[in-house]
Amino acid sequence: MDKKVEVVVIGAGITGLITTFLLQEKGIDVVLLEKTDRVGGQLHTINDESFLFESGPNTGVVSNIEVLELFRKLNDECTLQIAQQEAKVRLIWKNGLFRPLPNGLSSAISTNLFSWYDKINILFEPFRKRGNDPLESVASLVKRRLGKSYLNYAVDPFVSGIYAGDPNRLVTRFALPKLYRLEHEYGSFIRGAMKRRKALAEEKEQGISKDVFSVKGGFNQLVEALRKRISNDAIITSAGNSIVEPTLDGWSTSLSASGDKIYSQYVITTVPAYALPDLLPFVEEEEMKPIASLHYAPVIQIGVGIKDGSRVPLAFGGLIPSVEKEKLLGILFNSSCYSDRAPRGAASLSFFLGGVQHADLLNYSDNELYELVKEAMHTMLKYPKDTEPYKFHIFRHSKAIPQYEADSEERLNTVDKLQERYKGLIIAGGLRDGIGLADRIKQATKLANLLSR
Ligand SMILES: Cc1cc2nc3c(=O)[nH]c(=O)nc-3n(C[C@H](O)[C@H](O)[C@H](O)COP(=O)(O)OP(=O)(O)OC[C@H]3O[C@@H](n4cnc5c(N)ncnc54)[C@H](O)[C@@H]3O)c2cc1C
Repeated sequence: MDKKVEVVVIGAGITGLITTFLLQEKGIDVVLLEKTDRVGGQLHTINDESFLFESGPNTGVVSNIEVLELFRKLNDECTLQIAQQEAKVRLIWKNGLFRPLPNGLSSAISTNLFSWYDKINILFEPFRKRGNDPLESVASLVKRRLGKSYLNYAVDPFVSGIYAGDPNRLVTRFALPKLYRLEHEYGSFIRGAMKRRKALAEEKEQGISKDVFSVKGGFNQLVEALRKRISNDAIITSAGNSIVEPTLDGWSTSLSASGDKIYSQYVITTVPAYALPDLLPFVEEEEMKPIASLHYAPVIQIGVGIKDGSRVPLAFGGLIPSVEKEKLLGILFNSSCYSDRAPRGAASLSFFLGGVQHADLLNYSDNELYELVKEAMHTMLKYPKDTEPYKFHIFRHSKAIPQYEADSEERLNTVDKLQERYKGLIIAGGLRDGIGLADRIKQATKLANLLSR
């Protein structure tokens, strides 16, 4: 049956769910369309006995006020879970051992992650010239300001932990905008960090921090809380491949599964970039190319349950720099961060493989992945060679994380141009404004505020 609403939101991942929830809260008539039969998109928790595994994200960062506001609103249905203190420790793999990333002056001096040359040279960072290439890669910026060992053993593993990407290809201005601004607004990372101390203290008072969060019981609880708060008739799942077309006074969205049409004043897309050509066929192929060609890194996440968790370090996880030439990108120690991830004494871990630099691993068979994880449990976590994982869940994502590379400028300009030309069309989602959960929550909040004005 055809229908008329003010807003159609397409894609029921976290961005679409929060946008819809907040729009409804503001009294706006909205419908959320999801192609598949479940809502949540990349958020998906799997419970196996008393072990809890995530197929997608395990944590977000409490990096903006919108995260806190959302959880305040959903307080009755789901509980924000801040990771335990131990999670502040990050380990980096170097020469056959996990070593803690320094978190203070004395550990920064004593660590053997970085070379003495770079440690001394960092004192001159505030006096180094400001870069002038707006498309400078993360690798080039970090090498220029901090030195090669900081790139190899701090920034490269950090970037692979977030983007599963290549720091030589990610452009700082788009991929790590805060880092870019430190240099461009203050002339130096160190000077910028000192000048921002007051602002950081103010943010801390509001609850904004670098702390990582999950949700008690896993991210499915957040999805479920949002689903419950949105009225039933506003969510249409199994909608199939919808088609959006401009009309004389707004938009028409046809649902391929039912043949129904929904007319609206606004359409907000939150689907991945590669889904847009089919969804918005009125945009010429050539014009859509800069958006649709956005490159996504493949990622395999393997949820592993171990009965004896005593050898798992009390830390957030261990990251593996690409110079170490290992197949793994890193291991998250989920049960060291959140007490509800595994039975007492046991451990729940996530092993990450693939990424831009090891895309071929996506073709590994389940057996090969099992052997690889078993080997890493032995060499990296020091379990006896014959220790078998008690639980083993493989989650393959062929298009996991958007890479904000040199083509980002053209992509964002194209988005702006289309939104300007087609009034009422909003192209959102992870193809812009950041790829992390906190970015998604912030974008959804901004969209809801914009449309309610
Ligand atoms: C393995 C993995 C690990 C991650 N780890 C972290 C982490 O630790 N921390 C962090 O902050 N972030 C992490 N992320 C990123 C984070 O998960 C995403 O940024 C976020 O979940 C994206 O949400 P979204 O709603 O924008 O998109 P999605 O979750 O992709 O949702 C888009 C939705 O649109 C639907 N859709 C597609 N086409 C159509 C169509 N034509 N019509 C209707 N619906 C359609 C899809 O089915 C999907 O439900 C990770 C991602 C992955 C894959």
